[in-house]
Amino acid sequence: MLTKTTKECWEEFIAFIKKECSRAEYANWIAPIKIVESDNDNTSLKVPNVFVREYLLDNYKETLAQFFPTDAKGMPKIAFVIEEKRAKSVKSAIPPPPSQKEKSSLEREMQLNENYTFDHFIEGPSNQFIKSAAMGVATRPGKSYNPLFIHGGVGLGKTHLLHAIGHHIKKHHKKLRMQCITTEGFINDLVNNLRSKSIDKMKRFYRGLDVLLVDDIQFLQDRLNFEEEFCNTFEALINQNKQIVITSDKPPGQLKLSQRMIARMEWGLVAHIGTPDLETRVAILQHKADQKGLKLTSKVAFFIAEHIYNNVRQLEGALNRLGAYCRLMHMEATEEVVENTLGEMFQVIPTGKVSIDRILQSVASMYNIRESDLRGQSREKEIAFARQIAMYLAKELLGDSLTKIGLAFGGKAHSTLIYAWKKITTQMKKDENLRRRIQMARQNIET
Ligand code: ADP
Ligand code: MG
Repeated sequence: MLTKTTKECWEEFIAFIKKECSRAEYANWIAPIKIVESDNDNTSLKVPNVFVREYLLDNYKETLAQFFPTDAKGMPKIAFVIEEKRAKSVKSAIPPPPSQKEKSSLEREMQLNENYTFDHFIEGPSNQFIKSAAMGVATRPGKSYNPLFIHGGVGLGKTHLLHAIGHHIKKHHKKLRMQCITTEGFINDLVNNLRSKSIDKMKRFYRGLDVLLVDDIQFLQDRLNFEEEFCNTFEALINQNKQIVITSDKPPGQLKLSQRMIARMEWGLVAHIGTPDLETRVAILQHKADQKGLKLTSKVAFFIAEHIYNNVRQLEGALNRLGAYCRLMHMEATEEVVENTLGEMFQVIPTGKVSIDRILQSVASMYNIRESDLRGQSREKEIAFARQIAMYLAKELLGDSLTKIGLAFGGKAHSTLIYAWKKITTQMKKDENLRRRIQMARQNIET
């Protein structure tokens, strides 16, 4: 490596990358990059704008490290010169306009899922609060909670609520300019508008909105430059009392975003959407079955809801599969039919033997996290809590010594296990939902 000039390194990198990416990708993102210095210690690359740099680092940081000298952390030692401000008129440095397929959302019709309305959203203790907050926002946009930040695990109805707000506003506040977009969509918009030099048009569009609904803000993490643009849009809107609603898989404080962005998102109302309890799951199943014209007795609905408990999307998937089977076979949805068709979807396959693995598996699936997280050290609130539940169950269900249980959790001390056990025991006395959930996990583990 030492004998090579950085220019040679760059040429080799380019030769390699050409084989790795598509022709369009190469033309749009790689070709505009130029090497500007070629002494052996300093590599300097000229990029047309920050997005190209972002793109290069996002996608090829490791590859660059294989071709260029690296720093102590193994990162490629490359400096970037951004051409944007100095040479806006340099045509060749700006990637070509987007293809038809990548058309900006400004020209796209806003897509709201027609089933995701308030009428089709079933309430229960886990989502009552957030549903009424969402209705408040939909009824009086910009005047109740702003921003409204909805967070919770996958498949729990975040997108459903976001679109429900959208539908309501579309129907009752016809004059308001509204955009409902995923974070990916926003980023794509930004990139496309940058490429086609219509960034000002895009800024005007977003900043002229009355309502902005943004799904899955977690995708803004580690996208520094996009984050800044989003934050500017956000502030411009909030300062004019325009309504913003954001969904996320984590609360603001746990997102890897700038303090500025986090603080802005915490300005209004931050509300959590939890896993629905058994009765709510049954009600959701029955509502969806009605919609699909599938007959479901309450016994069968309970049977399914008892086995599939950690997200509504799975419940819906189960129902679709059951519906298709019953239609094809001209059969009623009996418990036996359910077991035959859905058996493999049920969350814990009964083997009759309680083990630490079974406990971890069950708790991990209940909270939608990885078993390795339960064994690991993460202090993230949801993971730490799930881990305490797993410790509680291990102490309750396994005859093993505390040392042995501690080892299964990556070598935790006795005191940690006892603390977790006491905490969960106390909390279960106060929290009906938690008690039921643990009971259900326990049944699953013991069956
Ligand atoms: P998320 O965005 O949180 O991952 P979605 O909003 O996509 O979840 O919801 C997944 C599926 O579950 C959707 O089909 C949605 O209609 C349904 N769903 C979730 N919660 C409810 C609820 N409370 N009532 C009715 N359907 C729900
Ligand atoms: Mg979603």
